[in-house]
Amino acid sequence: MRGLAKVERTSGAMEFIERPIPEPDEDEVLVKVDYAGLCGSDAGIYEFELAFERMELPTVIGHEYAGTVVETGASVSNYESGDRVVERPIRDCGECYQCRIGEENVCQDAVITGVDHHGAYEPYLTVPADALHPVPDDVEQQHAAVVEPTSVAARAVIENSRVGAGDRVLVEGPGPIGLLTAQIARSQGGTVTVSGVGKDADYRLPLAEELSFETVSVATDEMEARREKHTDGVGYDVVFDTTGHPSGLTTAVEEVRKGGQIVLVGQTGETNMLYSPLVRAEIDLQCSYASMYQDFERSFRLIRDGAVDCETFVDTRFSLYEADEAFETFIDGGTCKPVFDISTL
Ligand SMILES: [Zn+2]
Ligand SMILES: [Zn+2]
Repeated sequence: MRGLAKVERTSGAMEFIERPIPEPDEDEVLVKVDYAGLCGSDAGIYEFELAFERMELPTVIGHEYAGTVVETGASVSNYESGDRVVERPIRDCGECYQCRIGEENVCQDAVITGVDHHGAYEPYLTVPADALHPVPDDVEQQHAAVVEPTSVAARAVIENSRVGAGDRVLVEGPGPIGLLTAQIARSQGGTVTVSGVGKDADYRLPLAEELSFETVSVATDEMEARREKHTDGVGYDVVFDTTGHPSGLTTAVEEVRKGGQIVLVGQTGETNMLYSPLVRAEIDLQCSYASMYQDFERSFRLIRDGAVDCETFVDTRFSLYEADEAFETFIDGGTCKPVFDISTL
């Protein structure tokens, strides 16, 4: 079979490699991949950001996917051939302190599919049965492929934020995690505004509007006027930073109300800011990372019930045969959540 791999430690450098179909170990399942999404971190691998230096190359990437069980290892009893599944791609070790106290999302020894071992941009992969999650009958397979990023947003909003009915919420960044966060914050009763920058004007902010959100562009300096209009000048109750950009946190500090909450989801790297205004306004600074079993469960229900509108959100225009085009368009903001049909490989 062929899989799309990162082959060199430079920007771009994605090529198809030939690999044998793997055999499942006792506790593993062989999964045929149906659909796989493109995530911000896949774009990070494409551009070969520092966080991915640890990768051994070539590695087939892709970690957000939905597939079908085709074979099970001898000791696997909870899955059978034909079952539809997704993977929780940050595989926790099950043994470290965090895993033992129920904080598997911050496991000390986690390995990530499509980074630390071959991922889902190829027709088959083997997965420990413990890392799989069944897809409910009433969720389409193509939509199930985005349950992983949805679970990241569900964790940020439901577990880690205080958003409730009547809250005024700002989501910074109309990328995939941002627009999922916005939809889930709305399902919790928040009135949500989505902000973006110049390159978001063509696709991502219009997509946010199609999903019925108010939008604001940082580029055209409307932030203050919008804050005035939407919050009577008080500031937003909760601000989610999903930008992954150094300006995300500093903007959040300007936009949040005194006594409000900032939830950091995007990974900024480094930023410089005065933090005494945060202390003096008693801002609650909360981080949210990855997701757990429960976040996946909730996400399937949010997708099934339409709180997360996958039909509008998923972009099916791209093929892995023109992966560079998909990645470059993603990086330029010309798409939000591409999902590839892996059966074409
Ligand atoms: Zn992802
Ligand atoms: Zn662990």
